[in-house]
Amino acid sequence: MRGLLHYSALMPPRYCEVALPVPLRSTFTYVLPQSLAGKLDGQPLVGRRVVVPFRRRAMIGVVLAESTKPPDITRAVSAGGGAAAAPAIREIAEVMDPVAALPPKLIELGEWISRYYVAPVGETFRAMLPPEIEVRHDREYSLTESGRARLDELAQKLTLADAERAEAELLRRIDAQHPPDPESESRARRKRVDEAAAEALVRHGYLAARNVLRHRQARTQKILAWNPAAPAVELDTRAEKVREALTSASGPLPLHVLIAKAGVSRAVVERLERAGVLSSWDEPLTPGEDPWDTDFTPPTNVLNAEQSAALADIWRWLVAGKFAAGLLHGVTGSGKTEVYLGAIEATLSRGKTAIVLVPEIALTLWVGRLVRARFGEHVAVLHSGLQDTERAREWWRVRHGEARIVVGTRSAIFAPLENLGLIIVDEEQEASYKQEETPRYNGRDTAVYRARLEGAVALLGSATPSLETYHNALAGKYQLLQLTSRVENRPLAAVRIVDLREEFRRQHRATPVSESLRAAIALRLEEKTQAMVLINRRGYSWSLMCRGCGALVQCENCSIALTYHKSRQRLECHYCGYSIRPPKQCPKCNSEYMYYVGDGAERVEEYLREQFPVARIARLDRDTVRTKRQYQQVLGAFAKGEIDILVGTQMVAKGHDFQRVTLVGVVAADLALGRPDFRAAERTFQLLTQVAGRAGRGELSGEVLVETYYPEHYAIQYAAQQDYVSFYEKEAQFRRLLHYPPFTALASVLVRDRKVENAIRWSRALAAYFAPFEERGVKILGPAAAPLARLRRDYRFQFVLKSPHRAILGKALAGALDFCAAKQFPETAVIVDVDPISLS
Ligand code: ADP
Ligand code: ZN
Ligand code: ZN
Repeated sequence: MRGLLHYSALMPPRYCEVALPVPLRSTFTYVLPQSLAGKLDGQPLVGRRVVVPFRRRAMIGVVLAESTKPPDITRAVSAGGGAAAAPAIREIAEVMDPVAALPPKLIELGEWISRYYVAPVGETFRAMLPPEIEVRHDREYSLTESGRARLDELAQKLTLADAERAEAELLRRIDAQHPPDPESESRARRKRVDEAAAEALVRHGYLAARNVLRHRQARTQKILAWNPAAPAVELDTRAEKVREALTSASGPLPLHVLIAKAGVSRAVVERLERAGVLSSWDEPLTPGEDPWDTDFTPPTNVLNAEQSAALADIWRWLVAGKFAAGLLHGVTGSGKTEVYLGAIEATLSRGKTAIVLVPEIALTLWVGRLVRARFGEHVAVLHSGLQDTERAREWWRVRHGEARIVVGTRSAIFAPLENLGLIIVDEEQEASYKQEETPRYNGRDTAVYRARLEGAVALLGSATPSLETYHNALAGKYQLLQLTSRVENRPLAAVRIVDLREEFRRQHRATPVSESLRAAIALRLEEKTQAMVLINRRGYSWSLMCRGCGALVQCENCSIALTYHKSRQRLECHYCGYSIRPPKQCPKCNSEYMYYVGDGAERVEEYLREQFPVARIARLDRDTVRTKRQYQQVLGAFAKGEIDILVGTQMVAKGHDFQRVTLVGVVAADLALGRPDFRAAERTFQLLTQVAGRAGRGELSGEVLVETYYPEHYAIQYAAQQDYVSFYEKEAQFRRLLHYPPFTALASVLVRDRKVENAIRWSRALAAYFAPFEERGVKILGPAAAPLARLRRDYRFQFVLKSPHRAILGKALAGALDFCAAKQFPETAVIVDVDPISLS
């Protein structure tokens, strides 16, 4: 193959703009060395991952652009580590992917995200790339007709040039390997062919190539969990460390991680396991057959008139083959999923691919199973709960075109599908679509943008659309499809408001669950139907208070009260993971009169067990379920009727379709209303409507009990009436009046530092920078102490920026970051959040 090398030596230099995972808003230029250029033989690098030297280390980045022109020198300087002399442009060390990891449309999408959300370009692309693991994705070659003819031709020749001899040998080797024998594959690694040489023959038409993924053999690992029902035993210090590791922030851990985290030997863990203090199970490192899927038969439903009408519209958009966005506004239980499935089918039948976004990992299980039952092997599931190997495998399956439908959470919007025809965003209003770290994108809005880029259809579905989306639908930006009644004309569940003030007057005591709700649950147990109880707070008590001075026991790092977890005997911070043993005396005044206030999910569960000792009760929240397996266990058991009462946080509120639930109780329904946030009413309305939607979905009718101290609040009233439009109108009035989205663009800028003086100094400097934008139509509030004035030891100040002109707002924000860089504020000191989901 010397001929090829010789040819490439004549090629002009190739400069690449590489996005690197560093918090800087620029790309860096590298040059492709001749040694690699020869192997690539002129193929484009855009979209491929490369290994490059950055400052003093090697980093993986992705190539965004290529050029033969020498680059802008200033960028090369910073990549080189700030050398003063004119720097040499550094060289790419390695090209990782044989094909571009990111197709061109995704590169465009990433660039948009980086601009729109004012996010560092490299960190944006890191969020879009597959996990870096030991999965090999190879090209598999076979001879074509003309390849065979070429081989014959070469064989006839008497004398062969070096290049020809190499070519003949390569063709012969590939011919001998084909068809590849999966048996021999696992026994002995096949000799790899020279990929660059083979690619050259592909371009000549002598070889056909196929992308295949080779992963490591399926292995399992042992997962350990602290057993909450453990026999009471004395724990020594090493056991205490294990408990600490398993119960603090993380929950169940793989054995090797646990050993490292707790700093104990394997023998200690094994001893605790034998004593029943730890429970354990095996999880595959790579996915195997999932029993969740195999014994499932999907319902076969004939679409009703409203569903058919909605689907007919979607069909028309798909046939038009252009960008369209629609809102499917359907009351809970109206059968939106069936419309989604029809839309996917239509998309596939037109030779296109589809993405389905759901707001929760738990929902990928339900929706994934339905979609897989309908469309078989063409489905990939992507979410952050997968292990890296599993996620990488699914990701590459999608990239190689083996999967044509992707079901996943937020980041699945970056699924590398080509020829995309449809993106569905289920429960589009959910806050979980917004990423709360850089890049702070909203998966829903990104979905609409991606659909626009790809000429695809974006279908947003909800029973309680966000104000933004409904506003867009009314304004004609999105087309509105409506499902106004439940399937088979089942009635919506009747909602009853329990006035807690009234209850207290009658009972003269406050119980974790109101007397009305307790009685309603008792009735269900008698009837042998199921009940769900929603309590949107984890833990046993919200906080520990001192009767001497009124102080709450606070986190050392955050301005937030610690939550009491009884099973772990800890006070914990839900923001930073800090935890302590509950103090016997007030840390402030030494008073001994400490008491617990506010009941959380753990306490509610305990109370129900006391009240209904024979009932089968389970709890679903982040403390009880951590893994996919655990979700499946709890939800599966509930669906099968093996659980009578399911207590949970908002995890239980969304999407699930349980047929025998006839009662839903909402404890402390007004929790969110107390928060200083412009979305408090919207959140409350959505949560109550969603959870009410879980009742009475089967043949049995349902009832919902909503406990509140503010029964007359419009969010609660309209939720009880399940009247979305009236809620929208009322809430829209407020938003318009107070200049909040959807009537103005909003951004928050947070300045933070360990030292309060720094945070103040930088805030003042930024205030001076922002001031001139007032005249250009940007309203600037702040700097003021952020609602969470201290978080993870940082002091935090906040600006809120509002403007009817998004472009100017964008300028102000991008300029602010340039300003901070010029003033040499630390890279992590300023956080810009465009379209924040909350200001608290
Ligand atoms: P939504 O997401 O709108 O709340 P789902 O899509 O979960 O509602 O559907 C609710 C239930 O109605 C599911 O059990 C589904 O199988 C069933 N269903 C959907 N369409 C029909 C139909 N046309 N006829 C009968 N049942 C249906
Ligand atoms: Zn005190
Ligand atoms: Zn904290």
